[in-house]
Amino acid sequence: MSDTDVQPGRLFIGGEWEDAASGNTFETINPATAEPLTTVAEGGAEDVDRAARAARAAFESDAWQKLDARKRGRLLSAIADGLEARADELARLETMDNGKPVREARMIDIRESIDCFRYYAGWADKIAGDVIPVPGPYLNYTRREPVGVCGAIIPWNYPLQMAAWKVAPALACGNTVVLKPAEQTPLTALELARVAAEAGLPAGVLNVVPGFGESAGAAMVEHPEIDKIAFTGSTAVGRMIQRNSASTLKKISLELGGKSPNIVLEDADIDAAVRGASMAIFYNSGQACTAGSRLLVQESIRDEFVEKLLKRAAGFVPGDPLDPKTRLGPLVSAEQLERVMGYIEQGKAAGAELLLGGDRPSVGNGRGYFLNPTIFGSVRPEMSIACEEIFGPVLAVQTFADLEEAIALGNDTEYGLAAAVWTKDVRKAHLAAHRLRAGTVWINTYHNLDTASPFGGYKQSGYGRELGRFALDLYTQVKSVWVNLG
Ligand code: NDP
Repeated sequence: MSDTDVQPGRLFIGGEWEDAASGNTFETINPATAEPLTTVAEGGAEDVDRAARAARAAFESDAWQKLDARKRGRLLSAIADGLEARADELARLETMDNGKPVREARMIDIRESIDCFRYYAGWADKIAGDVIPVPGPYLNYTRREPVGVCGAIIPWNYPLQMAAWKVAPALACGNTVVLKPAEQTPLTALELARVAAEAGLPAGVLNVVPGFGESAGAAMVEHPEIDKIAFTGSTAVGRMIQRNSASTLKKISLELGGKSPNIVLEDADIDAAVRGASMAIFYNSGQACTAGSRLLVQESIRDEFVEKLLKRAAGFVPGDPLDPKTRLGPLVSAEQLERVMGYIEQGKAAGAELLLGGDRPSVGNGRGYFLNPTIFGSVRPEMSIACEEIFGPVLAVQTFADLEEAIALGNDTEYGLAAAVWTKDVRKAHLAAHRLRAGTVWINTYHNLDTASPFGGYKQSGYGRELGRFALDLYTQVKSVWVNLG
């Protein structure tokens, strides 16, 4: 597949491909070339309304209500198979739309999306209630019932994977879905709809409405027929969603930003930690909510560590993301590039020492949104590069004297999504893991995620746990049933 093969995108509502009610479309841009890839129908409030009604009708239909859970599981398996059959094509599409290296798109985004549908296919017929021992001549039992129509609003950094994280558990639990992909990366979500329809998912069970956050996204948050919003994105928009959903009392789950500390103690395996630290920040060009964007190194090893890190980081050479050898692609958009460059300027102005990068390479036609790997030293905690989510390949290096100070620095953030510690001392490793206020802590590793393991944030990084059996709590509600046996 090349740029020219990418077909225009339309809305997928009630099992049909449709234009937006307004007739409007928007362009989606290839970040590696800054050239338009294709046009996509721009869903607005009216389209969200149609999608929500289609999802409600599907939720109440016999086709969905009377489909037994085992068959629902088989549908999810068939979606996984459909994605797998098209994995290479989807990886290229994701790369052209998002800019991420195709090797990572194939090995991580697409593979894990397939895995997510397979995993929740297995859960579909195992979502059971309890029998509760209550006093008196009564039988009390619980049922785990679907929430209803779930709205999924997802970001651009892992487009298909974020869709899978929400759609797969929602369907496994018997819900129907309205999905809004990010305006920068709508294409693979539309392909997911195609694959799901081909797999036999009844019409209206999955609806996809590309569009802008302020219009389509906002309309979903306020729509009375949408029972729940599952959101991944910035903390600012997460707060807005929480506020705007109050009038309809939607159930909300939020997976938001991060500024994750990556702590290296002096007794760590230095070479392993250097590899981990560079991958922690440069993977996906730093556009990961769990990016290890704050490197905290013990003073005694700082110089040796930074020297090795600079050597390794220099190997992350930005290149054509469709080349399987490329490890660092462009940022997703001109806007994101500008934002990240703005942080680099702030870092310099605040007196941080620019140790590497900070500038832009020329790749391909010279117009893509590429940025060289960037490392700042002499960073103080109050600098914006140390406390705000940059979402780019920009690392802030700080030092600490001992474990106590490392934990205090690590926790000195409004966020709490992830953290890591590198040490050979088991006691220090677990102490840090227990005391770091984050939803995921890695010990001597970084960026591990698995469909079976819970994921989500502390503090301003959101609430609710996606993945694993924990996601079943997000997509079901518990009913208590009393039977008089007297
Ligand atoms: P947003 O939080 O704006 O985007 C995430 C999703 O929310 C998109 O689908 C977006 O739609 C939608 N959205 C935006 N505004 C609203 C709204 N008012 N109501 C409902 N939905 C809305 O992130 P940005 O794309 O603006 O990125 C800005 C920064 O956010 C990044 O630089 C990064 O720091 C952070 N971010 C963090 C992510 C994470 O996983 N933690 C993921 C993405 C961004 P649309 O794209 O169409 O506007």
